[in-house]
Amino acid sequence: MSASGTKMWTFTLVFILTFSLPITLALEVKEPPTIGIVGGGIGGTSTAYFLRQLFGNDAKIDIFEKRHIGGRLATLTLGDHQFEAGGTLIHPKNMYMVNFTKLLGLEQIQVGGGTFGIFDGSSMRVTSSKYSLVTMAKLFWRYGMDIYNIDSWINEKLLSKFMRIYDIQRAGHAYTTVPDLIGAMDQAFVSYMKKSIKFVMKTAGFGDAFIDEMVMAALRTNYGQNTEVPGFVGAVCMAGVQPGLWAVKGGNKQVPQKLVTEAKAQVIQGTVMSVQLLQYQDKTYRVEYVDSEKKEQHKDYDIVIIATPLHDEMSEIDFEDFPSPIENFPQKYHKLTATFVEGTPNSKYYGIDNAEEVPTEILTCNDTILVNSQGKKEDVLGNPANVYKVFSNVPPSEENIKQMFTSKKDIRMFSMMAYPEYSTVGEELPPFVLHDSLYYLNGIEMAASAMEMSSIAGKNVALLAYNHWHGNLDKIDEPYLDPALEKDKTEL
Ligand SMILES: Cc1cc2nc3c(=O)[nH]c(=O)nc-3n(C[C@H](O)[C@H](O)[C@H](O)COP(=O)(O)OP(=O)(O)OC[C@H]3O[C@@H](n4cnc5c(N)ncnc54)[C@H](O)[C@@H]3O)c2cc1C
Repeated sequence: MSASGTKMWTFTLVFILTFSLPITLALEVKEPPTIGIVGGGIGGTSTAYFLRQLFGNDAKIDIFEKRHIGGRLATLTLGDHQFEAGGTLIHPKNMYMVNFTKLLGLEQIQVGGGTFGIFDGSSMRVTSSKYSLVTMAKLFWRYGMDIYNIDSWINEKLLSKFMRIYDIQRAGHAYTTVPDLIGAMDQAFVSYMKKSIKFVMKTAGFGDAFIDEMVMAALRTNYGQNTEVPGFVGAVCMAGVQPGLWAVKGGNKQVPQKLVTEAKAQVIQGTVMSVQLLQYQDKTYRVEYVDSEKKEQHKDYDIVIIATPLHDEMSEIDFEDFPSPIENFPQKYHKLTATFVEGTPNSKYYGIDNAEEVPTEILTCNDTILVNSQGKKEDVLGNPANVYKVFSNVPPSEENIKQMFTSKKDIRMFSMMAYPEYSTVGEELPPFVLHDSLYYLNGIEMAASAMEMSSIAGKNVALLAYNHWHGNLDKIDEPYLDPALEKDKTEL
């Protein structure tokens, strides 16, 4: 090629690079998406918050809510007081809930002081004392070293591994299935989902008395179930009896309420009836809903996130025009009744002669009896009140209430589908991805239902949506290599 020909080529190349590169790059910069979230509980609102952080100010985020923002975080009024009616206790190491509370200018109040006893249907197996040394002596007498070992088991075998999720998510990693997300914390957790907590704790060296009384009592009060539940949810439940538990002063529901504002999300009051896959429009999904005036409406989105359980008896959402059908998941939810009574409990109902000796919290370790737990509650501001919250798996009759309370001034009772009915056998857990750009959050509850678990799922789904939108496939379902551990390896 002649010198002038080479010059010509060089010029053409420079021209192409100079003028076409910005065009190519410009084409690669994607517009921020429009996102519809179905469900305004802590799951949906934390997802909105994380999506806003990831996509920035220009993304459009709507939250559809058929009742109240907060969902299973709700309060109930009795007399002059408000009480937590759903999710109540938060662990001090639930970092998303801790950070939301700080960020939103809310305050923590300590919950769960007072005395406790474990009732077996005819008498108290063990009761605590107001003096902690006496309590420790009593518990040691009954459960031996298990009472000391439980704390280190929870901290070392569970919490330290569980907390890896915050580093993993900070690094932008996301997972398409619940076992992959749980396994990223620690592979042992995946096997815990297939073995009962009874088996897991027995293998870890805990004795029968401790498992049949303490662990059983914790499971009955926190999940209305027994020690046959999978080890992972059982372990989350045991973390829920550690010291330092707290709630948000004024009510936990304020977290989702304020997250909506923080996320600059628009709340659409209405019941979503269907999500339709669009074929030829520029948006991917049409969300059809019935608004607060009972009118049928629809809105179209690039991304849709379902943040409410897709199970029979709980969901009215249809998925239309998908190449393969999307249906409700087969697992059942556990029906629970909460009864709030302003009155005086009958100590004899729990085999206690002296009314002064009724513990603040009565837990039960026998799953053939009516009451899962009964506790004297402070209101959401931390004020004392003469109000007792009774959990049971079936609604107590009037006769039951008469036997349980010697006097009552006021009573409120409500039943709800509270959390999954846990089982170690059965179907695969629901995935986080239902279709391209259609995500599902509440499969996480099949591993363990808790506010922090919904927030972790919220962050995972937000990261999935962001990584898929921008083609960051190296951050999806890839193992997270802890930089500290990697550094150690190179230094060895
Ligand atoms: C009695 C009880 C006690 C608990 N105690 C604790 C505890 O002490 N600590 C803890 O961490 N966790 C606890 N939990 C669990 C915790 O409350 C839940 O795991 C968590 O609140 C679930 O949040 P979510 O956003 O995933 O679901 P939800 O809170 O159920 O939110 C789903 C939302 O979607 C809305 N929705 C549903 N369908 C539609 C539709 N078609 N269109 C529009 N909106 C729709 C619903 O109205 C709801 O607001 C408890 C739960 C219960 C019930």
